Amino acid sequence: MRLELKDIKGGELEQGYTCSLEEFPDLGVIAAVGGPKFGEPLEFQLRFQRLGQLVEVDASLDALVTLKCGRCLQPFEQRLSEVFALTFVPLLKDDETEEEVELETDKLGLISYENEVLELQEPLQEQLLMAVPISPICKTSCCGLCPVCGTNLNVEKCDCVQKVFNNKFNVLANIDFKKS
Ligand SMILES: [Zn+2]
Ligand SMILES: [Zn+2]
Repeated sequence: MRLELKDIKGGELEQGYTCSLEEFPDLGVIAAVGGPKFGEPLEFQLRFQRLGQLVEVDASLDALVTLKCGRCLQPFEQRLSEVFALTFVPLLKDDETEEEVELETDKLGLISYENEVLELQEPLQEQLLMAVPISPICKTSCCGLCPVCGTNLNVEKCDCVQKVFNNKFNVLANIDFKKS
C-alpha cells in the first residue's frame, strides 16, 4: 500500500483501494482481544493532489465492522463510512534536526514521506480505527439488559422493575405520616 510521487501525473490522481484484513495486521490483533471485528473487503477512495513536495489527500473509507452493543452486550454489524483528509510532507534530511522535525510534523497532523514514496498502510489503518464509534449501540431503541436478573429486554420481558416498584410502594404505604 504505497504510492510513488511520480504516479501522480499532472498533479492529480484518483484511486480506489480494495483491501483485505491481512494488509492491516493491527485489526486482527484488536479483534482477537474482543475489540471491533472488521469484515472484508475494506474499501478506500483516495484523491491525491500534489502541490510541489506537499501531497493533499481527500479520502473516504467504507467498511463493515462487528461491534458489541454497550446496552445489551450483543454483537451487531455496522457499516462505517467516513471522509477524511491526509497531508504528506517530505521528511527533512538534516541529520542533526531530523528527530525534532519529525515530532513537529506529528503534532501538526502531517505525515512524513521519504524517497518520493507515500506509505498509506499506517494512516489508513489509523482512520479505520478512528471511525469505530466509542459507545456503540445496536439500535437507538435497544432496551438493554435488566440490571437485576440480566435478561435481554429486547428478546423477553421480566418483572423485576415492577417488583422493585411494588416494594417501594408498599414501604411508603406502611409509613404512618400523621404521627411524625
Ligand atoms: Zn443493544
Ligand atoms: Zn429482570
